[in-house]
Parts: sequence; C-alpha cells; structure tokens
Amino acid sequence: MEQLSERLLALQPSATLAMSQRSAELKAQGIDVINLSVGEPDFNTPDHIKEAAKKAIDENWTLYSPVPGYMSLRQAIVAKLKRENGLDYKPTEILVSNGAKQSVCNVLMALVSKGDEVIIPAPYWVSYPQMVLLAEGTPVSVEAKIEADFKITPAQLEAAITPRTRAIILCSPSNPTGSVYTRAELEALKDVLLKYPRVMVIADEIYEHINYIGEHASMASFPDIKDRCVIINGVSKAYAMTGWRIGFMAAAEWVVKGCNKLQGQYTSGPASMSQKAAEAAWNGPQECVEEMRVAFQRRKDLIVRLCREVPGLEVNDPAGAFYLFPKCSSYFGKKDGERTINTSTDLAMYLLDVAHVATVGGDDFGAPECFRMSYATSDENIVEAIRRIKEALARLK
Ligand code: PMP
Ligand code: GLU
Repeated sequence: MEQLSERLLALQPSATLAMSQRSAELKAQGIDVINLSVGEPDFNTPDHIKEAAKKAIDENWTLYSPVPGYMSLRQAIVAKLKRENGLDYKPTEILVSNGAKQSVCNVLMALVSKGDEVIIPAPYWVSYPQMVLLAEGTPVSVEAKIEADFKITPAQLEAAITPRTRAIILCSPSNPTGSVYTRAELEALKDVLLKYPRVMVIADEIYEHINYIGEHASMASFPDIKDRCVIINGVSKAYAMTGWRIGFMAAAEWVVKGCNKLQGQYTSGPASMSQKAAEAAWNGPQECVEEMRVAFQRRKDLIVRLCREVPGLEVNDPAGAFYLFPKCSSYFGKKDGERTINTSTDLAMYLLDVAHVATVGGDDFGAPECFRMSYATSDENIVEAIRRIKEALARLK
C-alpha cells in the first residue's frame, strides 16, 4: 500500500530547494534561467581545503569517525570559538554533524517534547518550523516587519513566551532578511530570557562571517545565559563548502550528549574526509573568508541600488548574509493578461516563467508580502536579473 506516514504527509517540502530544482530543470531544457533561489556561495572551495581532503583520502581517513566528529576537528572548532568569538568550550561540548541543517534538527529533537512551543522570529528560514513540527513541537512565529528592519523587540519576545516555551531560534545574520542583531539588541532580548529559565536559545550563526557591519555578536557571549545557548555554525557559507556537509553545535555537555545519542542511531559521524577538509578550513589561512565577504558586500550594494529603482518594491539594506528580501505586496491583485498575482509565491512563479529569474516567494519564510533573492552570484547575473525582473513587473497592471 502506497501510504506515507502522517508525519511525512504533514511535512512541507523545502521551498528553497524546490525552487532551485525547478530552475535547474528549466536550465536543462535550454532556458537561460538566472538562479537567485538557493542560498549558497558561488565561489569554489579554496584550494588548500581541497588539498587537505585529497590528502585525507590518500592517508585513508575513509572509515567511520567517532559519532561527534574527530577529536582533532572538535579541537579546531574549540580554537575557532576562542579565536573568533572569545568563547570557551571543551571538545565534549561540540558535536559535528552532516551540515548545520542536521545540527538544528538534532537540537530540536533533543530539547522539544510533544506540545512544547518554539519561538521563531519571522521572517525565518523555511526549515525551522518544519523541523519543530517533526519534533512534535509547536512553532510560534513572532512577526518582525520590514519597518523594524525585520528584527523582533524584547516586548514582542516576552509577549510570546508561555509556560510551554522550550526554545527560541535566533538566526543572525538572518536568512532570509540579512538582518543582524547588534550586541545591544541581543542583550535586551537576553534580559527578557533570563526571567524564563526553561527557555533555551538556539543561535544559528551560519552566516557569521558574511557581515557588513563589523561585529558579530553571539548570545553565548553573555556569561549569564551561555549555559542555555546552543550555537549552530559550520563551514558551508564562510568557506564555500555547502556540498561537504559539515556543521556543528556548541552547547552544554548534557545537550551534546543527548544529540550524540540521537546522531549515533540516525546517521553516525559525518563523512570522514569532509571532516578533514573542515579542520583545514578552521585551522588554515582565513584570507579567503574576507575575500568572499568583500565580494558579497559589493554585490549587496549593487542589488540594493538596482532594486530601489524598481517601482513597487520596498527594500531594506541588509547588514549580512547574501539575501535580499523585498516587500512586493504592491503587486498583489495585478495581472499580466490572464495571469493574476495574488501571493508572493505567485510572483516568484511569474518571475521564473516570464523573466526566467528564480527567486523564492516569502510564504514559506513566514512573510507572505516579501520574496527572497540570493545575490551569491556574479555582478553580471545580478544586473541582468534585476533588469528582467523590472521589465516583467512593469507588465503587471
Ligand atoms: N541555517 C540557515 C539559516 C541556513 O540558511 C542554512 C542553509 N543551508 C543552514 C542552517 C544549513 O546549512 P548547512 O546544512 O549547509 O550547513
Ligand atoms: N540555506 C540555503 C537556502 O536557504 C540552502 C537551501 C536550504 O537548505 O534551504 O537557500
């Protein structure tokens, strides 16, 4: 009998990956699609990291690793957290996983019991609420509007906390908005959280290095809440290593132990040669990270300037990550011939079909008035994509 479980029937597919796949299918048909949908650096993994992986294979780092990752890699992560974040962790407080995606999923599975609430500031990364639902928790969305630079206030946070609240997921720099919480803003949220000891903080810092305002602030840097923080990070974005699948969590030992048990039954340690590559990334020269950051900042300035010239789009100036999240609701209700745009997903489909530019509607990000573009692509692609988008939007009456 072809019958999926209730769990899977309730699960939404990832809108970012779905749109990216659609764009790849159109490209395979020979259509010249510019893909601004999926969020991944367009750079190659730096050579010294690739060399380390080749060497690892030749030296037979090709068998199972310990479930939480090789000790040498966990030590490299401990050193990274000290060097870049001023944070003290022990190797036993680190768990390496198959991408930061698995790290987030692990921690939600480990902390959330049936009916527990998890606060997720919206706009949010599409996978968070689905992961909470998989853990049988209840996602509680707290809306931050473009006028507030897509950041929640301490009062909004406090209003959302109930006796069932188990965690909040804070993503800074944010996917999909690019907003970055300053240290002072984080501190104000932390002061609220201190009043509610049951609430854990899942701090997704995967875009840490793609930051245009200088300082990256981590919730774990406040000593009075550090033991309740679970830092999520990895090599995907900073080192252009999305395909290597290495992420980690840094957290109190009891959390890491719990996640270790889960990972031991589910996937084991991540790919051994990828771990060796990640070790080279964190221990090796860091100039590549800054070079990519500078390129992203230049493209951010370009796409913001171009999008501000498109009538009907409202655009924030992101402080990090590589996404722009314009408000597009002024186009709702408008038509191109028979086709009416009622939602941001309609708009994204229209832009794909008519302008051959792949973006992602804001609905699955908890922001139905906006849509997302990843500008991790060449300057030429950005210029041409926005030219096409402007032309296609001008046809909507
Ligand atoms: N968190 C956020 C906010 C992301 O955008 C992504 C994107 N992939 C991830 C986590 C997961 O990253 P990865 O699994 O590639 O390490
Ligand atoms: N995080 C990236 C994005 O949001 C990669 C795709 C995904 O895992 O969702 O596009």
